[in-house]
Amino acid sequence: MRRKVIAGNWKMNNDLTGSKDLINKLVQELKNEKYNCEVIICPPFTSLAEAGNLLKGSSIMLGAQNMHEEESGAFTGEISASMIKSTGSRYVILGHSERRTIFKESDQLINKKLKAALKNGLKPIFCIGETLEEREKNITNNVLKRQVTVGLEGISETELKDIIIAYEPVWAIGTGRTATPAQAEDAHNFIRNLIKEKYSKNAAENIIIQYGGSVKPDNSGELLSQPDIDGALVGGACLKADSFIAIIKSA
Ligand code: PEP
Repeated sequence: MRRKVIAGNWKMNNDLTGSKDLINKLVQELKNEKYNCEVIICPPFTSLAEAGNLLKGSSIMLGAQNMHEEESGAFTGEISASMIKSTGSRYVILGHSERRTIFKESDQLINKKLKAALKNGLKPIFCIGETLEEREKNITNNVLKRQVTVGLEGISETELKDIIIAYEPVWAIGTGRTATPAQAEDAHNFIRNLIKEKYSKNAAENIIIQYGGSVKPDNSGELLSQPDIDGALVGGACLKADSFIAIIKSA
């Protein structure tokens, strides 16, 4: 049985005070709730160290939203995997569609970042997904295949055990337009088969594939009950403790 994993991507929201408030609420409220999944929050870099302190002793895990592929050096403004690790973070989101489109990150660059994260003991949440144009041209599967093949190039089956894949159709991110459970399940099943072809049946059965794209308390239950959907990567709805907790409880 694969465990379900719910992750919250805070994006560029919450200063230090806002981060502390939200984390304290989550820790406090989740203590009194019964839920059946792993929970990860990914605040901005500036809140990670404080989040690491506040989450000590809690079952909520911490992740970053991006990182640079090099270990250290003259990369003004960048953050390395070991810096992220030192905050108590165990996860890092890589290849988010906002990084791919706004910051022009290529599949090759994301592959380097995945390798650097794994080398430093960080578990990547590796995001893939097609744009609306690609879906309408009927090339969704080609796009997913390219992103998986290039993104995971040179990554072993042992290393793959530390990777979570997040299928996030770009047209569903922050738009309020969710993939239907059937559309999402189709894509997840296709991705799982890609993993089977590239690695093994065992690797495919064990990999966690999250869905992301306008997940809200009123659609999470149905999405998460699909056989190949193992969790959610949540943007907007993770910024309020109530809605994030409702999604966690629906898993
Ligand atoms: C995301 O940023 O990964 C995301 C899925 O955002 P939203 O839930 O707001 O669509």
